[in-house]
Amino acid sequence: ERAKLNRLRHTPSVTLDGQVIDLLANIEMPSDAAAAIEAGAVGVGLFRSEFLFMNRNGQLPNEEEQFQAYRAVVQAMDGLPVTIRTVDVGADKPLDRMSSHELRHEHSLNPALGLRAIRWSLAEPEMFGQQLRAILRASAYGKVRILVPMVAHMSEVSQIMSAVERAKERLRADAVPFTEVEVGAMIEIPAAALMMPSLMRYFDFVSIGTNDLIQYTLAIDRADEAVAHLYDPWHPAVLQLVERTIACANDAGKAVSVCGEMAGDPAFTELLLGMGLRSFSMHPAQVAAIKQRVLRADVRALRAQIASVLASDSPQETCVALLKSKPH
Ligand code: PEP
Ligand code: MG
Repeated sequence: ERAKLNRLRHTPSVTLDGQVIDLLANIEMPSDAAAAIEAGAVGVGLFRSEFLFMNRNGQLPNEEEQFQAYRAVVQAMDGLPVTIRTVDVGADKPLDRMSSHELRHEHSLNPALGLRAIRWSLAEPEMFGQQLRAILRASAYGKVRILVPMVAHMSEVSQIMSAVERAKERLRADAVPFTEVEVGAMIEIPAAALMMPSLMRYFDFVSIGTNDLIQYTLAIDRADEAVAHLYDPWHPAVLQLVERTIACANDAGKAVSVCGEMAGDPAFTELLLGMGLRSFSMHPAQVAAIKQRVLRADVRALRAQIASVLASDSPQETCVALLKSKPH
């Protein structure tokens, strides 16, 4: 079975009815880019840049250090797109305890609902500016996209776009090369999923973070063992938000992917394809298994069956029954 999956690596990811499906990799460190290439991923759909910021005894990486890390990934991917997520610290990904920045988190009564991700970046404009400039500089070496975590407010959107503009002006003033980069939003807070039509007026693309979308939709701490049995990716409310987000992005003609665990779970492949998803980003180890499902899928047939899964009180059983009853 392993050998068979290995042979799949260089097979293009196309459905039975000829739809090309992009399978991308999630990475945490520049060295992970090798695994992405090895897995046959057609790009990095999520570079979790916060791992450059964690466990550093209070020192945050400066612009130059970040630039080198981002450029290393862009060069390793050799022309394939690299989506760099701006720092997503807080809650399950704390900065180390020594950091003065961490002090602000420690006052958070509930870190998952506190000053984290883009909220923290906007509260630390010097840090955010350095990161944006480092990402832009890496764009001179390949195809780079900026992805912003935990967007929820329209006021954040304008602050993000201004910060990107300021970073570009600074680089222009210093005659540092960069190319145009697309700016996208993670859809991982229910409010953002519901705001999709508005967000699509400003962002070039979106990526659905199902890990947090499940946490915030169901009010289940994703790291709390006591309620882990209620952390349910099949919950109808979660599926409706995912479906709505994909449909809104497709209607707006903007790229949409899923980069949460759902994208790398073969149990969801047909459902997501039926919802209209054409881009999946996952741990490199999952790429072959997802490709296997894609190669056997008929998107047109799946599209027609999706409504019954979404309308069901037990979508998982409905989905399993559908896939058993007809060949895909
Ligand atoms: C997510 O929330 O689904 C996601 C991809 O980001 P992370 O797991 O890093 O929060
Ligand atoms: Mg997340």
